Amino acid sequence: MRIVLVGPPGAGKGTQAAYLAKNLTIPHISTGDLFRANISQGTPLGVEAKSYMDAGNLVPDSVTIGMAEDRMEQADAAEGFLLDGFPRNLAQAEALDAYLQGKGLKLDAVLDLEVPEDEVVKRIAGRRICRKDSSHVFHVTYNQPETEGVCDSCGGELYQREDDREDTVRKRLEVYHAETEPIIDFYRAQGLVATISALGKVAEVTERAMSALGSDA
Ligand code: ADP
Ligand code: AMP
Repeated sequence: MRIVLVGPPGAGKGTQAAYLAKNLTIPHISTGDLFRANISQGTPLGVEAKSYMDAGNLVPDSVTIGMAEDRMEQADAAEGFLLDGFPRNLAQAEALDAYLQGKGLKLDAVLDLEVPEDEVVKRIAGRRICRKDSSHVFHVTYNQPETEGVCDSCGGELYQREDDREDTVRKRLEVYHAETEPIIDFYRAQGLVATISALGKVAEVTERAMSALGSDA
Protein backbone atom coordinates (compact mmCIF):
# COMPACT_ATOMS: atom_id res chain seq x y z
CA MET A 1 0.00 0.00 0.00
CA ARG A 2 1.05 3.58 -0.67
CA ILE A 3 -0.41 5.86 1.95
CA VAL A 4 -0.10 9.53 2.86
CA LEU A 5 -0.77 10.65 6.44
CA VAL A 6 -1.92 14.23 6.80
CA GLY A 7 -2.91 16.35 9.79
CA PRO A 8 -1.67 19.31 11.80
CA PRO A 9 1.65 19.21 13.64
CA GLY A 10 1.09 17.26 16.85
CA ALA A 11 -1.93 15.32 15.52
CA GLY A 12 -0.13 12.03 16.17
CA LYS A 13 1.03 11.19 12.64
CA GLY A 14 4.44 9.90 13.72
CA THR A 15 2.96 7.96 16.63
CA GLN A 16 0.34 6.30 14.43
CA ALA A 17 2.78 5.76 11.58
CA ALA A 18 4.96 3.58 13.78
CA TYR A 19 2.05 1.17 14.44
CA LEU A 20 0.53 1.35 10.97
CA ALA A 21 3.86 0.72 9.26
CA LYS A 22 4.37 -2.35 11.44
CA ASN A 23 0.83 -3.66 10.87
CA LEU A 24 1.02 -3.11 7.13
CA THR A 25 4.72 -4.10 6.79
CA ILE A 26 5.69 -0.98 4.88
CA PRO A 27 8.33 1.59 5.81
CA HIS A 28 7.43 4.78 7.66
CA ILE A 29 8.90 7.68 5.72
CA SER A 30 8.90 10.96 7.64
CA THR A 31 10.53 13.93 5.92
CA GLY A 32 10.81 15.64 9.33
CA ASP A 33 12.79 12.64 10.67
CA LEU A 34 14.97 12.63 7.53
CA PHE A 35 15.74 16.32 8.02
CA ARG A 36 16.51 15.81 11.72
CA ALA A 37 18.84 12.89 10.90
CA ASN A 38 20.66 15.15 8.42
CA ILE A 39 20.89 17.88 11.04
CA SER A 40 22.40 15.56 13.63
CA GLN A 41 24.89 14.23 11.07
CA GLY A 42 25.80 17.78 10.08
CA THR A 43 25.21 17.22 6.34
CA PRO A 44 24.87 20.23 3.97
CA LEU A 45 21.19 19.31 3.53
CA GLY A 46 20.75 19.37 7.32
CA VAL A 47 22.48 22.74 7.60
CA GLU A 48 20.19 24.18 4.93
CA ALA A 49 17.00 22.69 6.40
CA LYS A 50 17.66 23.75 10.00
CA SER A 51 17.08 27.48 9.57
CA TYR A 52 13.68 26.88 7.94
CA MET A 53 12.65 24.31 10.53
CA ASP A 54 13.66 26.43 13.51
CA ALA A 55 11.54 29.28 12.13
CA GLY A 56 8.54 26.98 11.62
CA ASN A 57 8.64 27.38 7.84
CA LEU A 58 8.66 24.70 5.17
CA VAL A 59 12.02 23.64 3.79
CA PRO A 60 12.09 24.61 0.07
CA ASP A 61 10.58 22.15 -2.39
CA SER A 62 13.84 22.08 -4.36
CA VAL A 63 15.44 20.26 -1.41
CA THR A 64 12.48 18.35 -0.01
CA ILE A 65 11.09 16.66 -3.12
CA GLY A 66 14.44 15.17 -4.14
CA MET A 67 15.07 13.90 -0.61
CA ALA A 68 11.63 12.25 -0.44
CA GLU A 69 12.04 10.66 -3.88
CA ASP A 70 15.49 9.31 -2.96
CA ARG A 71 13.97 7.67 0.10
CA MET A 72 11.08 6.17 -1.90
CA GLU A 73 13.65 4.72 -4.32
CA GLN A 74 15.16 2.54 -1.59
CA ALA A 75 14.51 -1.19 -1.81
CA ASP A 76 12.34 -1.43 1.31
CA ALA A 77 9.82 0.98 -0.29
CA ALA A 78 9.36 -1.03 -3.48
CA GLU A 79 6.07 -2.59 -2.34
CA GLY A 80 4.69 0.47 -0.55
CA PHE A 81 5.27 3.13 2.07
CA LEU A 82 3.58 5.34 4.59
CA LEU A 83 4.44 8.99 4.02
CA ASP A 84 4.34 11.22 7.12
CA GLY A 85 4.82 14.96 6.64
CA PHE A 86 5.16 14.72 2.87
CA PRO A 87 3.62 16.12 0.73
CA ARG A 88 3.12 19.36 2.66
CA ASN A 89 1.95 21.72 -0.10
CA LEU A 90 0.29 21.46 -3.53
CA ALA A 91 3.57 21.57 -5.46
CA GLN A 92 4.85 18.57 -3.48
CA ALA A 93 1.55 16.71 -3.98
CA GLU A 94 1.78 17.30 -7.73
CA ALA A 95 5.42 16.22 -7.76
CA LEU A 96 4.51 13.03 -5.90
CA ASP A 97 1.72 12.25 -8.38
CA ALA A 98 4.13 12.80 -11.29
CA TYR A 99 6.80 10.65 -9.64
CA LEU A 100 4.36 7.77 -9.06
CA GLN A 101 2.77 8.13 -12.49
CA GLY A 102 6.22 7.86 -14.06
CA LYS A 103 6.47 4.42 -12.46
CA GLY A 104 2.91 3.38 -13.29
CA LEU A 105 1.97 3.58 -9.61
CA LYS A 106 -0.56 5.53 -7.58
CA LEU A 107 -1.50 6.28 -4.00
CA ASP A 108 -4.02 3.98 -2.33
CA ALA A 109 -5.22 6.29 0.43
CA VAL A 110 -4.72 9.58 2.22
CA LEU A 111 -5.46 9.32 5.92
CA ASP A 112 -6.46 12.66 7.40
CA LEU A 113 -6.06 12.87 11.19
CA GLU A 114 -8.50 15.36 12.66
CA VAL A 115 -7.76 16.93 16.07
CA PRO A 116 -8.99 20.18 17.64
CA GLU A 117 -6.33 22.89 17.88
CA ASP A 118 -6.32 23.04 21.71
CA GLU A 119 -5.49 19.32 21.86
CA VAL A 120 -2.72 19.72 19.28
CA VAL A 121 -1.18 22.46 21.40
CA LYS A 122 -1.21 20.21 24.51
CA ARG A 123 0.30 17.31 22.57
CA ILE A 124 3.11 19.44 21.15
CA ALA A 125 3.87 21.17 24.46
CA GLY A 126 4.57 17.81 26.13
CA ARG A 127 6.24 16.04 23.21
CA ARG A 128 9.70 14.65 23.84
CA ILE A 129 11.72 12.87 21.17
CA CYS A 130 14.83 10.72 21.14
CA ARG A 131 18.21 12.20 20.19
CA LYS A 132 19.31 8.96 18.54
CA ASP A 133 16.17 8.49 16.44
CA SER A 134 13.54 11.21 16.19
CA SER A 135 10.85 8.69 15.22
CA HIS A 136 10.86 7.53 18.87
CA VAL A 137 8.20 9.86 20.30
CA PHE A 138 6.92 10.30 23.86
CA HIS A 139 4.79 12.72 25.86
CA VAL A 140 5.40 13.93 29.41
CA THR A 141 1.83 12.98 30.44
CA TYR A 142 0.08 11.06 27.66
CA ASN A 143 2.86 8.68 26.64
CA GLN A 144 5.49 8.56 29.34
CA PRO A 145 8.71 6.62 28.95
CA GLU A 146 9.45 4.03 31.64
CA THR A 147 12.38 6.12 32.90
CA GLU A 148 12.01 9.88 32.72
CA GLY A 149 14.17 11.40 29.99
CA VAL A 150 15.23 8.04 28.51
CA CYS A 151 13.95 6.44 25.29
CA ASP A 152 12.22 3.06 25.89
CA SER A 153 13.25 1.80 22.44
CA CYS A 154 16.96 2.58 22.36
CA GLY A 155 18.06 4.27 25.60
CA GLY A 156 18.70 7.61 23.85
CA GLU A 157 18.23 10.92 25.63
CA LEU A 158 14.77 12.49 25.29
CA TYR A 159 14.52 16.22 24.57
CA GLN A 160 12.08 18.88 23.46
CA ARG A 161 12.31 19.83 19.79
CA GLU A 162 13.52 23.38 19.13
CA ASP A 163 10.48 23.97 16.92
CA ASP A 164 8.05 22.74 19.62
CA ARG A 165 8.43 26.02 21.54
CA GLU A 166 5.19 28.01 21.71
CA ASP A 167 5.90 30.82 19.21
CA THR A 168 7.24 28.43 16.57
CA VAL A 169 4.24 26.14 17.06
CA ARG A 170 1.89 29.04 16.27
CA LYS A 171 3.81 29.66 13.05
CA ARG A 172 3.75 25.97 12.11
CA LEU A 173 -0.03 25.84 12.60
CA GLU A 174 -0.42 28.88 10.33
CA VAL A 175 1.76 27.21 7.70
CA TYR A 176 -0.31 24.04 8.02
CA HIS A 177 -3.60 25.87 7.38
CA ALA A 178 -2.21 27.99 4.53
CA GLU A 179 -0.02 25.49 2.69
CA THR A 180 -0.77 21.92 3.76
CA GLU A 181 -4.55 21.82 4.25
CA PRO A 182 -5.21 22.54 0.54
CA ILE A 183 -3.70 19.14 -0.34
CA ILE A 184 -6.67 17.48 1.38
CA ASP A 185 -9.06 18.92 -1.24
CA PHE A 186 -6.56 18.02 -3.97
CA TYR A 187 -6.67 14.37 -2.84
CA ARG A 188 -10.42 14.50 -2.10
CA ALA A 189 -10.95 15.25 -5.79
CA GLN A 190 -9.12 11.96 -6.47
CA GLY A 191 -11.41 10.11 -4.03
CA LEU A 192 -8.49 9.16 -1.79
CA VAL A 193 -9.24 10.84 1.54
CA ALA A 194 -10.38 9.04 4.69
CA THR A 195 -10.84 11.41 7.62
CA ILE A 196 -10.71 9.97 11.13
CA SER A 197 -10.74 11.49 14.59
CA ALA A 198 -7.31 11.33 16.21
CA LEU A 199 -8.76 11.92 19.68
CA GLY A 200 -8.64 9.15 22.27
CA LYS A 201 -6.05 6.55 23.13
CA VAL A 202 -3.24 5.82 20.69
CA ALA A 203 -4.53 2.24 20.20
CA GLU A 204 -8.08 3.46 19.52
CA VAL A 205 -6.81 5.82 16.83
CA THR A 206 -4.76 2.99 15.27
CA GLU A 207 -7.92 0.83 15.15
CA ARG A 208 -9.87 3.61 13.44
CA ALA A 209 -7.02 4.12 10.98
CA MET A 210 -6.75 0.44 10.14
CA SER A 211 -10.49 0.13 9.54
CA ALA A 212 -10.48 3.32 7.39
CA LEU A 213 -7.74 1.66 5.33
CA GLY A 214 -9.85 -1.46 5.01
CA SER A 215 -7.58 -3.61 7.19
CA ASP A 216 -8.07 -5.11 10.65
CA ALA A 217 -5.92 -3.73 13.48
P1 ADP B 1 2.90 14.49 14.60
O1 ADP B 1 3.81 13.47 14.00
O2 ADP B 1 1.56 14.56 13.92
O3 ADP B 1 3.53 15.85 14.72
P2 ADP B 1 3.33 13.00 17.10
O4 ADP B 1 3.05 11.59 16.68
O5 ADP B 1 4.75 13.39 17.30
O6 ADP B 1 2.57 14.03 16.09
O7 ADP B 1 2.48 13.25 18.43
C1 ADP B 1 2.53 14.51 19.11
C2 ADP B 1 2.55 14.29 20.62
O8 ADP B 1 1.29 13.78 21.02
C3 ADP B 1 3.59 13.26 21.08
O9 ADP B 1 4.14 13.71 22.30
C4 ADP B 1 2.79 11.97 21.26
O10 ADP B 1 3.34 11.13 22.27
C5 ADP B 1 1.42 12.50 21.67
N1 ADP B 1 0.31 11.69 21.19
C6 ADP B 1 0.21 11.03 20.00
N2 ADP B 1 -0.99 10.41 19.90
C7 ADP B 1 -1.66 10.68 21.05
C8 ADP B 1 -2.95 10.33 21.56
N3 ADP B 1 -3.81 9.58 20.86
N4 ADP B 1 -3.30 10.82 22.77
C9 ADP B 1 -2.47 11.60 23.48
N5 ADP B 1 -1.24 11.97 23.06
C10 ADP B 1 -0.83 11.52 21.86
P1 AMP C 1 7.67 17.32 11.28
O1 AMP C 1 8.68 16.44 11.91
O2 AMP C 1 6.83 16.62 10.24
O3 AMP C 1 6.85 18.07 12.29
O4 AMP C 1 8.48 18.42 10.45
C1 AMP C 1 9.35 19.32 11.10
C2 AMP C 1 9.76 20.42 10.15
O5 AMP C 1 10.52 19.87 9.06
C3 AMP C 1 8.63 21.23 9.48
O6 AMP C 1 8.13 22.27 10.31
C4 AMP C 1 9.35 21.75 8.24
O7 AMP C 1 10.20 22.84 8.55
C5 AMP C 1 10.25 20.57 7.86
N1 AMP C 1 9.55 19.66 6.93
C6 AMP C 1 9.19 18.37 7.16
N2 AMP C 1 8.59 17.84 6.08
C7 AMP C 1 8.56 18.83 5.14
C8 AMP C 1 8.05 18.93 3.82
N3 AMP C 1 7.42 17.90 3.23
N4 AMP C 1 8.21 20.10 3.16
C9 AMP C 1 8.83 21.13 3.72
N5 AMP C 1 9.32 21.12 4.96
C10 AMP C 1 9.19 19.98 5.68
